[in-house]
Amino acid sequence: MKNCLLCKSDYEEVKQRLTMRQVVETYGYKVNGKGTCLCPFHNDGHPSMKIYPDNKGFYCFSCGNGGDVIKFVSLLYGITNQEACLKLIEDFALPIKTENLTYREKREREKKIRERKDLEKFTKYAYGILNLYRQLLCEASRNPRNSHFVEAMQQLTIVEYKIDVVKENPQEFYADKKAVRQIGAIRERIINWY
Ligand SMILES: [Zn+2]
Repeated sequence: MKNCLLCKSDYEEVKQRLTMRQVVETYGYKVNGKGTCLCPFHNDGHPSMKIYPDNKGFYCFSCGNGGDVIKFVSLLYGITNQEACLKLIEDFALPIKTENLTYREKREREKKIRERKDLEKFTKYAYGILNLYRQLLCEASRNPRNSHFVEAMQQLTIVEYKIDVVKENPQEFYADKKAVRQIGAIRERIINWY
């Protein structure tokens, strides 16, 4: 038995590193095209457990059990949340050191988690702004008399390129301060559109 202390950031890190679907399937429950699977927590005849994307967890519409990846494993094996968290770290060979962390290592880890959260938040925000801008430009590009027509001609492919970068390489995009500032400028354009 490992004598280890899990802190809140370990739980966060486990949750960030694993998707709900990945965990459910690893422990033997196939998720179908509708994003549901047979519920292990009641006698389920047809899939009534919803597996949510973006790490929003699971919920069974028949028995009402729900939660995150840790909760799922804790219910499935009848173990505590801490044991479930450790089990996930071991079963998925997550690079999370659970013993004898120095103060510095803890700080480092918390910093990394914070950075990842910031990146996630920014990506969602940037993606929303760029998509909306693209829609407005598309609309403007269909009518030469539209006051934004020239802008649409100039910007549409650029914006589409940016959307691709945000989707495929959010880290790089976020690290580019100029690109980040431009998102703010685009937001201003959208606000004053009509
Ligand atoms: Zn159920």
